[in-house]
This record gives sequence, C-alpha cells and structure tokens, in this order.
Amino acid sequence: MEWRMAPPGMAEAAGTVVAGLLAGGHEAYFVGGCLRDELLGRPVHDIDITTSALPEEVMALFPRCVPTGLAHGTITVLQEGYSLEVTTYRTESGYADHRRPEHVVFVRDVREDLRRRDFTINAICCGLDGGRIDPFGGERDLKLRVIRCVGEAEERFEEDALRMLRCVRFASVLDFAIAKNTWRGLLRQRDKLAHIAVERVRAEVERILEGPHPQRGLGLLLRSGLLPRGKAPFPWTGRDLAAAAARLAGLGNLESARLRWALLLHALGSSAQCADELLRAWTFPGATRTGVVAVLRVREAWDAALLSARPEASGAGERLRRRWIAAVLGQGQSAAEGWLTVLDAAGAEAASPVTTSLLRSWTAEMPIRTLAELAVSGHEVTAALEKRPGPWLGVLLNQLLLAVAAGDLANDNQLLLQAAQRMDRDE
Ligand code: ATP
Ligand code: MG
Repeated sequence: MEWRMAPPGMAEAAGTVVAGLLAGGHEAYFVGGCLRDELLGRPVHDIDITTSALPEEVMALFPRCVPTGLAHGTITVLQEGYSLEVTTYRTESGYADHRRPEHVVFVRDVREDLRRRDFTINAICCGLDGGRIDPFGGERDLKLRVIRCVGEAEERFEEDALRMLRCVRFASVLDFAIAKNTWRGLLRQRDKLAHIAVERVRAEVERILEGPHPQRGLGLLLRSGLLPRGKAPFPWTGRDLAAAAARLAGLGNLESARLRWALLLHALGSSAQCADELLRAWTFPGATRTGVVAVLRVREAWDAALLSARPEASGAGERLRRRWIAAVLGQGQSAAEGWLTVLDAAGAEAASPVTTSLLRSWTAEMPIRTLAELAVSGHEVTAALEKRPGPWLGVLLNQLLLAVAAGDLANDNQLLLQAAQRMDRDE
C-alpha cells in the first residue's frame, strides 16, 4: 500500500504493525477514515488497523502498547513515535441508550467488522499489498460523493444516534450529498438525538462550523431539525439560523473558530451574557467561550458608545474615539480586532457614523494596549503615594493606561507617577 496523504513516518509505522500482525499468523488491514481520506486526496491524520488477532494476541506481539479500549478490542500500539489503534474484528449489538453497544463480539471475518461501521465510505479496508475490501460500495460512493449508511439507515441511526450528526458532519466537511434513504432514516430517528451527551453533539457541531463548508452544514442541520431535539438549549428558530449562517460567507475561510461562533451568535442577536451561558451549556472549552464572549462584549461597549453619542455635539468624534480605546483596553486588542472582522463580515450598518477602517486606525495609533506595557508598576505607584495597595490601585493604573493609550500622556515613568499623584488628589 502506497500512502500519498499520510505522513511518511506514520505510514511506515502502520505498515510495520500490519506486517507484524501478519507475521504472527493473523489477518490485518488498514481501515476506515484513513482510506476514505487517502482515496479522496485529503490529509490522513491517523491510520487505524483492524485485525483478526485478539487483544491479548496484539499485546503479546507488541510490548509497547496501551490497552485503550480492551473490552471493545482496541489496543494502542506505540511504534516509531506514532500511536496506532489496532482493533480486533468485532460486531456490536444491544445498543443501550441509542449510543453504546452493550455486547461486543469478536469475529473471524473482516466483512463482519466492516458491516458494523457507519457509512459506506468508512467501511473500506486495505491490505499491505494495496488490495482493498469494500463490500458496501464505499469507493463508488466516494466517486458519487454521497454519504450512505451501511445497511438500513433507520436501524443504524436508532442503534447509535450520534451517527446522525456524523452523517451531517461528513456531508458538510466533504461537501457530499446524503443518500435519500439515509436522509429519510435520519429524519425518522432524529428525536433520538436527545440521548446523546452534549459534548459529543458539540464536538460534531464544532467540526461542521470549523470545516470548509459551514453554511452547507448549518443548512443540513437546519433541515434535519436535529439540534432543537438535543439535550443542550437551542433558543432559535430555523429561520434565525439560516439568516445567521448566510452571514458566515462574509468571513474568510481562514478566520478562526472563535470568530465564526462570534459572528453566528451576533447574527442571532445573542447578548454577551446569553452567549456565555449558552456556550457553557454546550460545554465549550473555556478558552473558546471567553474568546467569543470578549468579542461580543466589544460589540456591546461600542453599541453603548454609539447610542450615547450625539454626533452633532462638539467633540463627539473625540468622545467616540476614547470610548473605542476604552473598549479595546477592556476586552483586549484581539477581541477588538475580532469584532471589526465580524462587523465587516456581517455587513456593517450603513448608517454607522464611524467606519471599521477608522476604528482600525484608532486601534493602530494606540501607543500601548495593556497594563504590562505601562512604564510604571503598581509597586512604584503605592510607594510614591505612600498608600497601602487596595482596589484603588487597579482603578488608578487603568486610568493611567487609558490616558496613555488615548495619547493624553507620554508613557514615561516620572510623568506617570506625577499623573498618579494628581489623580489621587483629585479623587
Ligand atoms: P475522523 O477521524 O476524521 O473523524 P473517522 O472516520 O476516522 O473520521 P473515527 O471516529 O476516527 O472517524 O472512527 C474511525 C472509524 O470507526 C470510522 O471510519 C468508522 O468506520 C468507525 N466508526 C466511528 N464511529 C462510528 C459509529 N458511531 N458508528 C459506526 N462506526 C463508527
Ligand atoms: Mg479517525
């Protein structure tokens, strides 16, 4: 088997493992996603191996291994710096809660193993010599660009409801169609999504949104009616989501996941607070959540500034500039720039008195953007004022930061200490 899309080291390590299993008198094949991606010319991230060898036999052949999922027959073999999952041919039955098979039975025939897999394009395996076993027409479906269940779709989705989201995810990421029967089965079983853990659902939705065709994926999610049936709150109607998804086109493909979520939540009209609660309920990692929320907080700060601005009053432009700078300091430069990208993508309201390019130049002109860059430390300020540190210190340092960032004050240690004394007196 010649791998074109797998890292050469990984391909070699996987070849060594398969050869080792064969030498031990067992059958072994490369299987699943790695073949799908190789045949599609997409990067292969990991190579899974399926074998007739029982887990104990695998462990006996490869001393450096981890019994990752022993009960399900999966051993992770460590080979030449790579970890390869080696799984014994198996069938599954008696799915509990529409997710986990209660019985795993090891079998002797690789075709039986392929039959338990979700989609035809994921049910291909290939030997060391490059010979493929493809009982369900996976290669044909790769050419037709269609996602099709192995066997009866309705049954397969009932067994494991997560497969419905995997179906939408593969259709979205690969830009494939979904076979009619598969789609019909999905619609019939969609209520079963209620059985799937929120983090599993979130992980699939993340891959859809972060993939190359998020709009297509959101369109499919919408038509499937899956998300409102999940465990996590979904406070929107389909129409909201369709309109919001359309805005994603304005965001380049390179933009981060954080901005995709921010744009979506913005277009759905979520406040920063609501977004925070929603992302929490959806079990998003803290870093993603706080990143998205910071972007929406910049929006709120700026909206408030625009609302209170009276454009005809004198000095209105300067007041807005200061409010913008305060927002940049409050949420961080990255959140502020993220917000401007979102605003451009979402199609900024024509009536806004300040363009995003003006906001960008205001940001660029800020001499400093963080407390760390301020040429005076909290220690120096407390010493100069002969006061004990307390909440007043943070307030004062932030006043100094704003003054320097807005260009009122040079970022000079002596000048800052004098300004601190002045501000303290004025308190
Ligand atoms: P990717 O790793 O890009 O998500 P993949 O197809 O490798 O794609 P994995 O979750 O790594 O997905 O699973 C490996 C293989 O195991 C799949 O190709 C498929 O054959 C099988 N598989 C995974 N999840 C399921 C499932 N829920 N039901 C049936 N078969 C599955
Ligand atoms: Mg995989």
